[in-house]
Amino acid sequence: MDIDDEYPHAKAHEYDIAQICLRAHVTNAEYMDKPKHNQKFCSTCGSPTITTCQSCNAPIRGHSYSRDPIYAPDWKPPLYYHECGSPYPWTDELLRAAQELADEVPNLTDDEKKQMGQDITDIVHNAPRTPAAANRLKRLAIKAGESTKDAIIQLASNIASDALVKLTRGW
Ligand SMILES: [Zn+2]
Ligand SMILES: [Zn+2]
Repeated sequence: MDIDDEYPHAKAHEYDIAQICLRAHVTNAEYMDKPKHNQKFCSTCGSPTITTCQSCNAPIRGHSYSRDPIYAPDWKPPLYYHECGSPYPWTDELLRAAQELADEVPNLTDDEKKQMGQDITDIVHNAPRTPAAANRLKRLAIKAGESTKDAIIQLASNIASDALVKLTRGW
């Protein structure tokens, strides 16, 4: 089948619509064009799935036709809605995971743990203090050791943060 016939919605709108569960599992990044994969509830965690922003009700951008017309299995849920800037239901939870990760590092002081969680959040949000946060996070990660570094790299890919992925690639 021709690729254009296979993705009529994504081709016409540039993006398909994504269906994502409330805990950030992507159930279908091609909601319109591959409806047979749609799920009312997440098969991973049982949470209800959504296809629209919970604040402004516009559709969640899914798979991009123009960027990559072939299904991308590593498609990650966004953190903030592109129309109104509202965080998705899972965003707080993902950022909380960053703090939990930091809290479990054995050889950091309490202040350093708090700092590490804040630094990861700043980097994900690309806050103005990001360069300082990046330097400090690297120093803390070296102090914390290999398993913490690996955990941060894993977290970076889970929360789909390009900034954090780019940073940890240099470690
Ligand atoms: Zn789920
Ligand atoms: Zn919205």
